[in-house]
Amino acid sequence: MNESFEKDITWNSAIYLHGDEQERFEETVKIIPQDCSSLLDVGAGNGAFLNFIEKTKLNIQTKGVEYSIGGIRNKVCQSEIIQGSIHDLKLANQSFDCVAALEVIEHLPVSIYEKGLTELERVAKNYILISVPYKENRVNVTCPNCACSFNPNTHVRSFDEMKLKNLFIDFELESLQALGNKREMYFGKYRRLAKSLFGDKRFPAHCVCPLCFYSKNDGNHNVKSENSITKMTSPKTYIKIIKKIFFYNSPRWFIAIYKRKKQL
Ligand SMILES: [Zn+2]
Repeated sequence: MNESFEKDITWNSAIYLHGDEQERFEETVKIIPQDCSSLLDVGAGNGAFLNFIEKTKLNIQTKGVEYSIGGIRNKVCQSEIIQGSIHDLKLANQSFDCVAALEVIEHLPVSIYEKGLTELERVAKNYILISVPYKENRVNVTCPNCACSFNPNTHVRSFDEMKLKNLFIDFELESLQALGNKREMYFGKYRRLAKSLFGDKRFPAHCVCPLCFYSKNDGNHNVKSENSITKMTSPKTYIKIIKKIFFYNSPRWFIAIYKRKKQL
């Protein structure tokens, strides 16, 4: 799992409870079914979503599972968050009415992705709630220390309607909605290239390089200049014009709710 999840800055609640994220929480809570009295949040992070449920849906019993000690250390909710991984939940079969994994499955390495989805199905009694970035065109950043290229948000896969429809075996998709707003680039199959040329490639403050563990906030790395490696840094005004002409508005997230299939 990526080292950035062990850093306090990653779990700064301001990042998670700001602007669009607030809208995502509101919409996600709205689609929790009425007959749901217990919810497990897998990949609960610092418990920001559990905190949101505590404030808005008092009749639901909640619990979290989080892999990173960093997330649990920065807990912002009343609910218990236990340390564990999505691919080995250590909870009884069908022990929660609803199991949620919000902004989680796009991070899962190949080795635990399938097992993780199976575990959600095993622990959920009636519903599974999933949110993922909307048809994400993932663009890498370059580490200023070792020059390796990686996704700054540690997203290793992206999702469209078809992928989400076929995510589970024993659960079927009940509703799927797109929400939020982001600027996305035209160009069809060339947009990944275009985004890598004109998109924002700065090394984000919360990032930890998965290869050399460089982080902007460490201060003990002797890095001469980020610009020596970051390619094609265009003037700000030029980028502004490009963005006006070639970008369009796109939703930011998918939220999906799945219901257990009826036994024949
Ligand atoms: Zn590196």
